[in-house]
Amino acid sequence: MLLEAVFHRPKMNWAYATDTHAVHIRIQTKKGDMNQVSLLHGDKYIWEKSSKVEPMECLVSDALFDYWEASVKLPLRRMRYGFKLESEGKTMWFTEKGFFEEMPADSWGLFEYPFLHAGEIFSAPSWVKDAVFYQIFPERFANGNVLNDPTEVEEWGGKPGRSNFFGGDLQGVMDHLDHLQELGVTAVYFTPIFEATTNHKYDTTDYLKIDPHFGNNELMKELVKAFHERGIKVVLDAVFNHCGNSFKPFVDVLEKGKDSAYADWFHVREWPLSVKEGVPTYDTFAFEPIMPKMNTENPEVKQYLLEVARYWVEDIGTDGWRLDVADEVDHAFWREFRTTVKKANPEAYILGEIWHDSLPWLQGDQFDSAMNYPFTDAVINFIAKGKLDAAGYSAEIGHQIASHTKSVTDAAFNVLDSHDTARLLFRCGENKDMMKAAVVLQFTYPGVPCVYYGDEIGLTGGDDPGCRPCMEWDKTKQDLTLFRFYQDIIRFRKEQPALRTGKLRFLLNEAGSQIIAFERELDGDRIAIAVNASEEAVTVQLPLAQGEWVDWQSADKIAHVSAKGNAKATLELPAYGFAILARKKEMV
Ligand code: CA
Repeated sequence: MLLEAVFHRPKMNWAYATDTHAVHIRIQTKKGDMNQVSLLHGDKYIWEKSSKVEPMECLVSDALFDYWEASVKLPLRRMRYGFKLESEGKTMWFTEKGFFEEMPADSWGLFEYPFLHAGEIFSAPSWVKDAVFYQIFPERFANGNVLNDPTEVEEWGGKPGRSNFFGGDLQGVMDHLDHLQELGVTAVYFTPIFEATTNHKYDTTDYLKIDPHFGNNELMKELVKAFHERGIKVVLDAVFNHCGNSFKPFVDVLEKGKDSAYADWFHVREWPLSVKEGVPTYDTFAFEPIMPKMNTENPEVKQYLLEVARYWVEDIGTDGWRLDVADEVDHAFWREFRTTVKKANPEAYILGEIWHDSLPWLQGDQFDSAMNYPFTDAVINFIAKGKLDAAGYSAEIGHQIASHTKSVTDAAFNVLDSHDTARLLFRCGENKDMMKAAVVLQFTYPGVPCVYYGDEIGLTGGDDPGCRPCMEWDKTKQDLTLFRFYQDIIRFRKEQPALRTGKLRFLLNEAGSQIIAFERELDGDRIAIAVNASEEAVTVQLPLAQGEWVDWQSADKIAHVSAKGNAKATLELPAYGFAILARKKEMV
């Protein structure tokens, strides 16, 4: 028994409320070390009467550790607890005071969950876990109004460059709502649409105004209404970390220097503002002079930006925010931001762009979830790059699930590509079977899948700016087979609650293998997914629970697994092929 590997702390992802009278408790142990871990728990005021020992379940594993979890009902909303560790016939008890060979005689020295306050339950808006998102880069989606085109507009379909324009706008989006509805998505995420000078609009000039090349605020309000009539939510992207260099307060500082009323709106290290050998004398995004970092600790800046947050949600009716460079803004600002946004709409989704460990922002007081780039990396490294084998992929996934509360995992924003990365098809070497295998992993994973515009009809392109081509609207040039595949997998996910919130358990994840299989289970409904991430056709023996298993698309019965007989189904998987089997509870 390796006691050094045992870890638990009350709060965060280790002990958290799941509803008004229930908590999840988790503990880490060395991988494969414990035969069983159990939770000793009870009410500290009536310990003798209430305490009991209940087995925990091994939730997931990563490369080094097992993570055990118990879901505990708390009628009195408080608990003291410790852990019983069993390995090779040896038993140890783990408490806040350390390890003991004897079971604690009373509750003194145990871990404590002092009181479960309803207001501290962290859950993302209820619609989020059921959503399928679609990301729109407005300048390249569709040009619905040539009258608002930038003067230097190029012909639709030309080569995307860092600074060229093709005239896409909000009317273009309005004109193609049918496409999104046919695809089946239930939410859209727009990259910035506020007035700015660039084609990507991440250098905001005016946070309260739609860019004139895209339309105006009235049109945006109509567009949100039109989306809502089709049951589609709308999330906007904003940068609160930095503005553009044509943002009026910054222009004022450029003109008046330290005498400007806005001097404290920015982080100026040296007056006057200048750029010395490529380094601005003021803080910026990276070293980008046109993106000055705002001082979000200044009360006036705060007031201005919080009004922005409120305005679009309350007055225009949008359903949340995706926050660019979110990790470089102070936590205190985000706490006020959350209060403001949730007051405007309690069901608004707050999603932060954080590429690394996002737990400090995901404690319930700031964001609902984060852009799940660790998931992106795991899928790409397994499917496309061959950098991970099945054991490595399952370890990555296990680590991610263990690192967050279930609420965060179920609301995580799972992208396979975006305006910031090469397109999925490009990353898959233009191999559409490989691309579909990646999409299967995305749509069968907990969290919210997001389709980057055009992936569904076969758009491709390398890193920015290549990944931002004009959408192809000529149906003869669209890959309609791929479109139907996206339609099918979106529909299947929407039909199967187990794919959204069910438990994930790996069925096949051997080292050295490129065959991954796992199961999602919810209230007895089971979905088994097998993916062959190799270029060889394979035959796999998939261990399945007993019952009638049907193919996800055809609903044909493809495996009968009896309890006594062969508890495995034989599947033929072509190169980069996959199988999805479903078993309803009543089909046992
Ligand atoms: Ca236009």
